[in-house]
Amino acid sequence: MIPDYHIHTSLCRHATGMPPDYRDAAGALGMDELCITDHSPNPDGFAQYVCMTMNDFPRYCDSISGLQDARSPTVLLGIEIEYYNGCENHFNSWLPQYSFDLVMASVHFIDDWPVDKDPESWNGVDVAGAWRRYFTVLQRMVDSGLFDVVGHLDLPKKFGHRPPDKLISELAQPVLDRIASMGMTIEINTSGLEKRAAEIYPAPFLIALALEREIPICFGSDAHAPEQVGRHFNEAIELVKDIGYQSYARYRARQQSSQLLPAP
Ligand SMILES: [Zn+2]
Ligand SMILES: [Zn+2]
Repeated sequence: MIPDYHIHTSLCRHATGMPPDYRDAAGALGMDELCITDHSPNPDGFAQYVCMTMNDFPRYCDSISGLQDARSPTVLLGIEIEYYNGCENHFNSWLPQYSFDLVMASVHFIDDWPVDKDPESWNGVDVAGAWRRYFTVLQRMVDSGLFDVVGHLDLPKKFGHRPPDKLISELAQPVLDRIASMGMTIEINTSGLEKRAAEIYPAPFLIALALEREIPICFGSDAHAPEQVGRHFNEAIELVKDIGYQSYARYRARQQSSQLLPAP
């Protein structure tokens, strides 16, 4: 079973379970590795209601390093960066202080609007305009060169608000070009299948555009409860193989390696 590289814990205050619970769940599925990626603490309190606090962060690191023994599955120390404009200086000095295995960066906000929080907040919104703005923030995140993996690349579709694929494709292509030149990986995030979008993040046509650029992929369930670990992974593997992917990325100490996808 392919490792799950996107997992939250109760420290972010909107998930249940601690790292040992997630390791047990991954082990029961036959995974040899998992990466815990809870929401990064931000010094200025940005999006504090969904993130770890600076005070919680040492506990997070301790709870993961306490699991780094000889037992299987291996537990990697990851983080999901809550990217927002102007955060670069902070993360530039903060990230090197910890021995992360993987740094995923996600955009959830356009300015101070969390696009994935409340479907009602989309009422009256210019959908195409919102997607344009989202990809502008995403481009800035990629340009920073600070992160390894792009999380749920087309998150604004979560509640079903999406412009025509042609526009999404136009917006995404320059970002994918940049992801490729930066050597970043994109996450195949299966949680979208359980949302109103009813589709993996990113959409299959975007995964095909990523393959054209030879962008590596990794897999994440975005689990907020232990029983969600590895959800829909077989479906995701089948999908990316149909598109033409043959391998996926693993990380250790922020170094990427490539591994063949398992046979169906
Ligand atoms: Zn996220
Ligand atoms: Zn997440």
